Amino acid sequence: MANWHALPPEDALKLLDSGPDGLSDDEAASRLERFGPNDLARISGPGPARILLRQFENYMVLVLLAAAVISWLSGERSNSIVVLGILFFIALLGFVQEYRAERAMEALRKMVAPEARVFRSGRMIKLPARNLVPGDVIYVEAGDIVPADARILDSSALETVESSLTGESNPVRKSPDPVKENAPLADRSSMLFMGTMVTYGNGKAVVTSTGSDTELGRISGMIQETPAEPPLKIRLQQLSKSLAVMVFIAALVVFSIQVYRGYPVLDTLLIAAALAVAGIPEALPFVVTLALAYGTQSMARRNAIVRRLPAVETLGSTTVICTDKTGTLTRGEMTVREIWCGRRVDVTGSGYVPEGVFRVDGSEIDPVSLDALKETIITGALCNNSELLQEDGWKIAGDPTEGALIVLARKAGLDLRERCREVTEYPFASDTRRMTTVHECDNLLRVSMKGAVEVVVERCSYIMDSSGLRPMTEGERERILEVADEMAGRALRVLATAFKRTESGELSREILEQDMIFTGLIGMMDPPREEVYGAIDVCKRAGIRPVMITGDHKRTAEAIARELRMLNGEVLDGSELDSMSDEELSDRIERISVFSRATAEHKMRIIKALKEHGHVVAMTGDGVNDAPALRSADIGIAMGRAGTDVSKEASDMVLADDNFATIVAAVEEGRRIYENIRKASSYMLAVTFAEVAVILVAVLVGLPAPLLALQILWINVVAEDFPAIGLAVEPARAGLMNERPRNPKEPILSRYVLRYTLGTSAAILIGTLGLFLLNLEDNLSYARTVAFASLGICAIYSAYSSRSFHSSVLEMNPLGNRKLLAGIVASLASVVMVIYIPVFQRTFETLPLTPDSWLQVWVVSTIVIVIAEVLKRSMMVGETNSLGSSSHSSPAKSR
Ligand code: ATP
Repeated sequence: MANWHALPPEDALKLLDSGPDGLSDDEAASRLERFGPNDLARISGPGPARILLRQFENYMVLVLLAAAVISWLSGERSNSIVVLGILFFIALLGFVQEYRAERAMEALRKMVAPEARVFRSGRMIKLPARNLVPGDVIYVEAGDIVPADARILDSSALETVESSLTGESNPVRKSPDPVKENAPLADRSSMLFMGTMVTYGNGKAVVTSTGSDTELGRISGMIQETPAEPPLKIRLQQLSKSLAVMVFIAALVVFSIQVYRGYPVLDTLLIAAALAVAGIPEALPFVVTLALAYGTQSMARRNAIVRRLPAVETLGSTTVICTDKTGTLTRGEMTVREIWCGRRVDVTGSGYVPEGVFRVDGSEIDPVSLDALKETIITGALCNNSELLQEDGWKIAGDPTEGALIVLARKAGLDLRERCREVTEYPFASDTRRMTTVHECDNLLRVSMKGAVEVVVERCSYIMDSSGLRPMTEGERERILEVADEMAGRALRVLATAFKRTESGELSREILEQDMIFTGLIGMMDPPREEVYGAIDVCKRAGIRPVMITGDHKRTAEAIARELRMLNGEVLDGSELDSMSDEELSDRIERISVFSRATAEHKMRIIKALKEHGHVVAMTGDGVNDAPALRSADIGIAMGRAGTDVSKEASDMVLADDNFATIVAAVEEGRRIYENIRKASSYMLAVTFAEVAVILVAVLVGLPAPLLALQILWINVVAEDFPAIGLAVEPARAGLMNERPRNPKEPILSRYVLRYTLGTSAAILIGTLGLFLLNLEDNLSYARTVAFASLGICAIYSAYSSRSFHSSVLEMNPLGNRKLLAGIVASLASVVMVIYIPVFQRTFETLPLTPDSWLQVWVVSTIVIVIAEVLKRSMMVGETNSLGSSSHSSPAKSR
């Protein structure tokens, strides 16, 4: 293999049979065939076989297998076959649901697959990184994760962090200059390596190797991804485990007592085994997986792409959403409205259409007639990395702020980029808040700078306006800041521009940026997104506090926050935050609704302070520096469009549309999913408890077992699971976002839910045992059939009642959840089938029921549902009271 790092860039290109314009599409396609996709061998999700096998890996299956074997050996072959059938059913149901969940997650993973910017036949396009081939010319900039190993062709202030490869966490400078052949990996400054982060600058490079041929591919071989398990699932698994122990003891008690009383050992053993199986809500973990997987799919349809499943659960309890302003609360489409260069110049036009005129005091002027205006516009265009494109309408490729400046220059006919050659560039970064370039224009070197007003003015010693060029006085400096303040107060995003001539572009940045000439202020409009107004209102009703954290000017931030009706507290500027201790911040944090001129470090302090108050914090971020904040927030949210790879990698969720309203929609989904899991768990536990108790109580009071082993299994596995799946996908109820956030520490079965569950369970128990006793005198098998029907129908009724903890069965839309309806019908059919179809009658030892008995079953199940409804009402009152006791504005304080 060639020593790419030691070759001059031209030689590397030649050797790879490529050129500065990259490959053609055809050539790239044929190389893709030859080299394969640019993927590392990843073990992502488990395959279907693995999922199927996993279904047999639990204790319950072992018990059932043992039961089948014992039945077979003792001649009860039909019993054994049914048990095996049930076993197969459990495995199939588990497999289908888990496989579908896995596929849903895989689809989500694909949605956040990394992309690369590639030159194909001279045009820059975005491609999935896996389609890169050796010879492709790529463009990278700060925030990107390098998509393949590549030889640098051209760079400006390019820096990368290669800790994933070399362990070194300091940024390394990169440039096209060849290095020594024997240079170690860490010193190969002319190369970019797959998986490393670009932290500053930008550059072009030619791909030298892809996929497992890269340095990363070589060291990692296989990257194993162990997806994080949702805490909820873990908690429910633990619950299932403790239940298993209790149920095992109950089964042992039942077995010992019945054998002691002289019942046949085999029948008793089977009942005990069935009890042991029935007592474990085996479908609980997969109902959770299902609710989460379907939930994340519907979140994706609403543009919120979940990267880590546990986030879904946390989302539902979010109390504060810290959000960026530009592009998230606002549209991120900038239009320059006004320029100040000693006098106010208005600019007309809309969006990115490069047509408009310049007006002073209402009269149109030629922008070239005012020197300061002309230089301001030229600076904006030169100090720029964006492109204006015309493809079904005018669009911007790159930063919208810079795009607006190109549109401005086109309106004035002053887009000089064709005539000038860039010599040096210090790109915009949110911590330096400025950008500086050196261009050679008509044999003269011009330094251009644009950025936040105070940052630019600080570097200016001269001012240019209608009365010419002169040294800047302190008074003028203050005046500029005042004008900028006034413009920002009108919700304009304000940038200052400055320029100067220089002898050399090779000087240090500090010297280059000294003694600049201030030329003007540019005010651009970035209107709020329409849907954010509604989303902010929803937040207020839902007890969630939106907090704006922006890099923009205090007055601009304040004006936008006021416009969006989210200014219900103080505005704190980054400089004020710097002078505050953590304690002071913590004291004031509950009153602050806007942080201006904030940096990524500020975000970390804000998260810490909010967490100290018990808040569950969702935080947005898009830049390289935002990664730590995204990680330390409870929910890190990255921007799908404007966000960097690095921020996406660090996030829990990605917004496909960068929209604040999407975060609120995701919170609603989070709440719905959590509630559904809660409902399904409560329902399954109620039925499970009732089944175990019916057998246990009957045996303890000296009665025969009211259900046979197969009957227990049938209700537990077949009749109970269908409705549970339906409950897991119940649509959001009205009013879900009119309640305060859930306390994340509250157990899934809160006091009230547990009372409802146990109460319903007790009602089913008493009703079923009562009916069993009532019919026992006639015939044991008949009494068992009645008990079977009663348990089955009560379970179905209670599934319907569990659809909502917040409204009665009469208030619910009966067709609101078709999956549940289908589940209920399937469940009902499975009960009736066992009672009426002859082969089932023989195996399950059932008898057809008389209309009288059905009436009894109906009366009992109706009583059960009335009791469940009464419990539900007391839960509603209880939960409202317990929530109402804490103040609305500081949701977490009551914890
Ligand atoms: P948010 O964090 O809400 O997205 P923002 O986009 O306004 O806020 P930054 O992008 O960090 O925050 O911008 C901060 C300031 O830096 C702006 O107010 C502006 O003055 C200046 N600025 C923004 N973009 C550029 C740019 N491309 N070149 C030079 N200066 C810029």
